Amino acid sequence: MENLIILGTGPAGLTAALYAARANLEPLVYEGNEPGGQLTTTTDVENYPGFESGVMGPDLVDIMRKQAQRFGTRCEYGKVVESDLSGEVKKLTLENGEVKACTSLIIATGASAKYLGLESEQKLLSVGGGVSACAVCDGAFYKDMAVCVIGGGDTAMEEAIFLTKYASRVYIIHRREEFRASKIMADRALKNDKIEPVWNSVIEEVMDVDKGVVTGIRVKNVQTDETRDIAVEGYFSAIGHKPNTDPFKGQLDMDTVGYLVANHTKTNIPGVFAAGDVQDSVYRQAVTAAGSGCMAALEAEKYLESLHD
Ligand code: NDP
Repeated sequence: MENLIILGTGPAGLTAALYAARANLEPLVYEGNEPGGQLTTTTDVENYPGFESGVMGPDLVDIMRKQAQRFGTRCEYGKVVESDLSGEVKKLTLENGEVKACTSLIIATGASAKYLGLESEQKLLSVGGGVSACAVCDGAFYKDMAVCVIGGGDTAMEEAIFLTKYASRVYIIHRREEFRASKIMADRALKNDKIEPVWNSVIEEVMDVDKGVVTGIRVKNVQTDETRDIAVEGYFSAIGHKPNTDPFKGQLDMDTVGYLVANHTKTNIPGVFAAGDVQDSVYRQAVTAAGSGCMAALEAEKYLESLHD
């Protein structure tokens, strides 16, 4: 039986681990399919305090992990697929069927990129055929090729602008005729010669499933119902994020999108805390995630102490 289990190794989970380890709580941290979280898919992080000249996202996570381990944090691979948080002992079922029990739990599982969910998109995603949600990770594969970005928010603008470093043409496919993105980001994208917005359009199909690689997209104009094919070799989804809360559905309070509802990191179940993007759809910054990780660890410490009163 563990004192404290922390789920997630992004800035929230690792900061919680650092504080908990220094408080002698001997935390066990599980990292899932995206070790390090979203920071590992970025390059330069210039807005994390303490790094005057910036720091690479993966390096920042690496430093945080080592710092937490220095005080006795244990990091293991383990994806939680089910949970039973109803009793005083919280039970977590891992993907391999193993059940882990703990007295307190910090959920810092973050949020993952969303996809449209089209059959063709999912098939090409599963074979690594040119469907991605991370320009920083995959952009360099598309030197002098045409690519598309789906979405109209800040992420879509950022991805599109980044992709112009490599691609010859970047189509932004957006379902309306106005971007949701901040004006500064939208203007920057629209001023870029390589970027071409495709307004009022939705993707009907990603081609070519039979070939196992992206060769183009079929888009439909939602105002005229006309369809047309655009040749692209890369497809980047940028339609927002989904919080990773599925294993806790029906037990923890969530908003309509699935973000955990937490008050000073405390969820509706005593002893269960939430930190980072899994409970924050507003700020979504490494530094705010780290801050809430610290808060969650302090709350967990208080909770564990209260059990001995
Ligand atoms: P957003 O929710 O802001 O935008 C998602 C975009 O995807 C919208 O344009 C939306 O269209 C479109 N979309 C959603 N679902 C579908 C669908 N099923 N089919 C077609 N299009 C769809 O998400 P972001 O990830 O862009 O941003 C999230 C937050 O993070 C925002 O607050 C943003 O400002 C912030 N952020 C800030 C950055 C920065 O400042 N550098 C960088 C990245 C993000 P519609 O507009 O019609 O709803």
